Amino acid sequence: MADQMRANQPSLENYWMPFTANRQFKAAPRMFAEAKGMYYTTTDGRQVLDGTAGLWCVNAGHGHQSIASAVERQLTIMDYAPSFQMGHPIAFEFAERLAEIAPAGLDRIFFTNSGSESVDTALKMALAYHRARGEGTRTRLIGRERGYHGVGFGGISVGGIVNNRRTFPTHLPGVDHLRDTHDLERNAFSPCEPEFGVERAEDLERIVALHGAESIAALIVEPVAGSTGVLIPPKGYLQRLREICDKYGILLIFDEVITGFGRLGTPFAADYFGVTPDIITTAKGLTNGVIPMGAVFASRDVHDALMIGPENMIELFHGYTYSGHPAAAAAGIATLDIYKNEGLLTRGADMAGQWQSAIHGLKDLPNIVDIRTIGFVAGIELKSRDGAPGKRAYDVFVDCFERGLLIRVTGDIIALSPPLIMDESHLDELVSILSDALRRAE
Ligand code: PMP
Repeated sequence: MADQMRANQPSLENYWMPFTANRQFKAAPRMFAEAKGMYYTTTDGRQVLDGTAGLWCVNAGHGHQSIASAVERQLTIMDYAPSFQMGHPIAFEFAERLAEIAPAGLDRIFFTNSGSESVDTALKMALAYHRARGEGTRTRLIGRERGYHGVGFGGISVGGIVNNRRTFPTHLPGVDHLRDTHDLERNAFSPCEPEFGVERAEDLERIVALHGAESIAALIVEPVAGSTGVLIPPKGYLQRLREICDKYGILLIFDEVITGFGRLGTPFAADYFGVTPDIITTAKGLTNGVIPMGAVFASRDVHDALMIGPENMIELFHGYTYSGHPAAAAAGIATLDIYKNEGLLTRGADMAGQWQSAIHGLKDLPNIVDIRTIGFVAGIELKSRDGAPGKRAYDVFVDCFERGLLIRVTGDIIALSPPLIMDESHLDELVSILSDALRRAE
């Protein structure tokens, strides 16, 4: 198969790749042709260990026949049905199955096609919720610096990635940001949740004091910020955000597009931290990355507040042609079966000790300024090369790829989030390739 791919290389001119240095890529393309279990195979036939579960999504590992068969079966029975004003059982079945694992009370499920769409859906739900309750003045949204919430206009507005915002200068009005929770000086090399920084939650009090609670609809945060380098909240921080939101009637949204479905060793980060938000956004692990799909988990309170007005009226003017798509729902149910049968939603907890000590064991290698781990995620922060921020980490990324390991880099931070099926031998392989690459990047 890989030989065939090599012989039939397509032109690289037409596909405009997302979030990619396209010109650099074309000069030295990196292509995967196949994937099974913990490994990709490149188009030139090399095995590459997946240290990132694709893009934080292939939580159960690659190539599950049961998912492929479920999708095929569903497409044979019925390929598509309209999602507005018509239903089909498999979407209801998937929502029911998701409700079984949802944090308490968050069992009203709205389907989308991606994380970005889940975020925009959640923000719109929050605005509609307050309006339905006669508090239409609550229109302001709050995000956090270094937050990533996808690429919709809502998501880039509440997000805190400078380049995403700078490139598109039009944002939603009325958005504030908390400071991020990254504090290298006080928290470097924390084994899990850092000790210091809970006081940053008080930023929310400051924003409320500035604008008035009656103007604020919702706060959205990633419980653990993933894409900007695995920033783990300090002890007590998320609890404090919940308290302040409760005090002022502000909805709390957890963006769990990365942390959902077992990444931290619990089904959701809400379970890990013991903090229940009003709305959770998900995607990625929802279908093991096999078919694009997202889901928003809303509390009954949020849902019920919108079930008003005449019964023949649409309650929420929002939705997607492919919401609850039959093939995606089939993939999702088959994925949940694997998570359940293989115990994957809690496997990160069983492996956390080994993961933590293996990754923290890299700390004496050159140029490492911080290592952060939680559940089955890690961030390794490197010292920037003088005058070339991000260059050292990029070199490590390319070197690892050439030697058979896929990692992800953002600036000078390496992010690791392997499929949850990873065993000790994979972990040894990951650590060995990565430590060699880190030594060479001196
Ligand atoms: N929110 C978070 C926390 C994410 O990590 C991502 C994707 N990395 C998104 C939203 C956007 O998801 P998508 O790329 O599926 O639109």
